[in-house]
Amino acid sequence: MKNSEVDDTFESLLKAHARDPKHARRLETPDLSGKGTNARCGDAVEIEITLSSDGGSVEDAAFTAKACGLCVASASMLCELVHGRLSADLDALAEGLIAGQTTDTNAVWNALLAVLAAYPQRRRCIELPWSALQNALRQPRNQRMISP
Ligand SMILES: [Zn+2]
Repeated sequence: MKNSEVDDTFESLLKAHARDPKHARRLETPDLSGKGTNARCGDAVEIEITLSSDGGSVEDAAFTAKACGLCVASASMLCELVHGRLSADLDALAEGLIAGQTTDTNAVWNALLAVLAAYPQRRRCIELPWSALQNALRQPRNQRMISP
């Protein structure tokens, strides 16, 4: 049975992300922000992204969440995974996670997929930050400066 192995991976990642909460914060001037809520379990997460000056890549990513551990861990891993990525690739990345694709060899990505496979009934919790990212991508840039 591989369950304990998966749990170990998840446990160690969750602890690592809890120990180093640099992603769990607000960005001063995010270019993109998107929210996701899961009415069923009450999870709420917001992803914020700062882009490079040409808008081509992710300079910084952070999240705020009032959510269960799986959702928080997923959001933290998301921030780590999108850092430095081309902004044009973000939507495909989110689609890939939701589809469970293994095209990315990144260890964090693989751990995230293992967590998804281990908790099929909690799928929505793990996917929530990624749908928040997709919401962020569909917002106009600097939306925060327009809205109160
Ligand atoms: Zn949840």
